[in-house]
Amino acid sequence: MNTKTVKTALNRQSGGYLHTFTHTLQPYTGCAFGKTIGTGQGCPYCYVRRLPVALFKAQPWGEWVEAKENVALVLRRELQRHAQQGTLGTLRIFMSSATDPYQGAESRFKLTRACLEAFVDYPPGLLVVQTRSPLVLRDVDLLQHLGRHVWVSLTIETNDEEVRRRFTPTSPTVASRLRALQTLYDAGIQVQAAISPMLPNVPEPFAEALNSRCTRAVVDTLFEGDGAHGKRSEALGMRSLFERLGYGAWYHPAAHVPLLRALRERLGEDRVVFSQDGFNDIGGCRDDCV
Ligand code: SF4
Repeated sequence: MNTKTVKTALNRQSGGYLHTFTHTLQPYTGCAFGKTIGTGQGCPYCYVRRLPVALFKAQPWGEWVEAKENVALVLRRELQRHAQQGTLGTLRIFMSSATDPYQGAESRFKLTRACLEAFVDYPPGLLVVQTRSPLVLRDVDLLQHLGRHVWVSLTIETNDEEVRRRFTPTSPTVASRLRALQTLYDAGIQVQAAISPMLPNVPEPFAEALNSRCTRAVVDTLFEGDGAHGKRSEALGMRSLFERLGYGAWYHPAAHVPLLRALRERLGEDRVVFSQDGFNDIGGCRDDCV
């Protein structure tokens, strides 16, 4: 584990799949959820492993993580500046798009927690905390302080533990993520269940499990959500992975339809969003966050 210092914390976001966000924030570079265990690759669909940040490293994606040790200090200064300029309310910040802010290193470094403390003092228009880790529960106190300014988006690609274990062996169990969703939801925090990307699942019980555990759910697929109509997923070898694991029939552009239907029946149309654009209208304030 390496540490480094940074000059900027908030990275300006323009266009791309997070086109309604003004900034992204990555407390870490690299992500240990992407590492390989035995023959199983963590998050095999992770597009970040094909970005320059990963390609220019000597070690494979998932095998290295750098902690930005001064990120919260720098963030605080940037937020102070926005407060002075009266622009805090215009900020829509996505934490994180190229790492998981609650990967294992966060237990030791507490950089994400320190960033949340800065946000409590200088609340932005919207902060989306994107993670797959139940470690987010450690910071429920700060998330509650942030109130309407924050959404937690917790990835849960399937409700089938066997699928989870085979496709994403480094990820927390289905049960632990359902418990995390429940705890966040019961704590009054705005929480999105991110079925992203959707993996083989059992639609009816999945929808039932999410109904009382999230404010809303977003369903995203390896076809709709990769930003290239499935070409990126193909390049990452997703078709052959599905076939090798015996789930070839699930690698289909319409495979999400039964789950989407089940979710809409249980949660209602208003609480279910399809496609990656669901991340963009989170908070329901695409243009009016001030
Ligand atoms: S948690 Fe996210 S950033 Fe990390 S490896 Fe998985 S998909 Fe990639």
